[in-house]
Amino acid sequence: MDSTAREDRKITCKECKQPFIFTAGEQAFYEEKQLHDPLRCKDCRDRRKAETRSQGN
Ligand SMILES: [Zn+2]
Repeated sequence: MDSTAREDRKITCKECKQPFIFTAGEQAFYEEKQLHDPLRCKDCRDRRKAETRSQGN
Protein backbone atom coordinates (compact mmCIF):
# COMPACT_ATOMS: atom_id res chain seq x y z
CA MET A 1 0.00 0.00 0.00
CA ASP A 2 2.96 2.27 0.32
CA SER A 3 4.24 1.87 -3.20
CA THR A 4 3.98 5.63 -3.66
CA ALA A 5 6.09 6.33 -0.60
CA ARG A 6 9.20 8.21 -1.49
CA GLU A 7 12.52 8.46 0.20
CA ASP A 8 15.05 11.22 0.06
CA ARG A 9 17.59 10.48 -2.61
CA LYS A 10 21.18 11.53 -2.85
CA ILE A 11 22.26 12.88 -6.21
CA THR A 12 25.74 13.97 -7.22
CA CYS A 13 25.72 17.43 -8.69
CA LYS A 14 26.84 17.49 -12.29
CA GLU A 15 28.48 20.85 -11.80
CA CYS A 16 30.31 20.87 -8.48
CA LYS A 17 30.36 17.08 -7.96
CA GLN A 18 28.96 17.47 -4.48
CA PRO A 19 26.19 15.17 -3.31
CA PHE A 20 22.91 16.84 -2.53
CA ILE A 21 19.58 15.60 -1.25
CA PHE A 22 16.62 15.34 -3.59
CA THR A 23 13.93 15.22 -0.98
CA ALA A 24 10.77 13.17 -1.12
CA GLY A 25 8.76 16.38 -1.27
CA GLU A 26 10.78 17.66 -4.22
CA GLN A 27 10.40 14.32 -5.99
CA ALA A 28 6.64 14.61 -5.67
CA PHE A 29 6.78 18.13 -7.09
CA TYR A 30 8.99 17.11 -10.00
CA GLU A 31 6.76 14.14 -10.74
CA GLU A 32 3.68 16.29 -10.74
CA LYS A 33 5.30 18.72 -13.16
CA GLN A 34 6.68 15.78 -15.17
CA LEU A 35 10.20 17.11 -14.85
CA HIS A 36 13.22 14.86 -14.97
CA ASP A 37 15.44 14.57 -11.93
CA PRO A 38 17.63 17.56 -11.18
CA LEU A 39 21.26 17.27 -12.26
CA ARG A 40 22.57 20.11 -10.15
CA CYS A 41 22.36 21.10 -6.55
CA LYS A 42 20.41 24.15 -5.56
CA ASP A 43 23.53 26.27 -5.20
CA CYS A 44 24.60 25.59 -8.77
CA ARG A 45 21.10 26.12 -10.12
CA ASP A 46 20.86 29.46 -8.36
CA ARG A 47 24.29 30.44 -9.59
CA ARG A 48 23.45 29.53 -13.17
CA LYS A 49 20.25 31.47 -12.95
CA ALA A 50 22.09 34.53 -11.66
CA GLU A 51 24.81 34.23 -14.30
CA THR A 52 22.34 33.82 -17.13
CA ARG A 53 20.58 36.94 -16.03
CA SER A 54 23.72 39.07 -15.70
CA GLN A 55 25.25 37.92 -18.99
CA GLY A 56 22.16 38.62 -21.04
CA ASN A 57 23.51 36.34 -23.68
ZN1 LIG B 1 26.43 21.89 -7.40
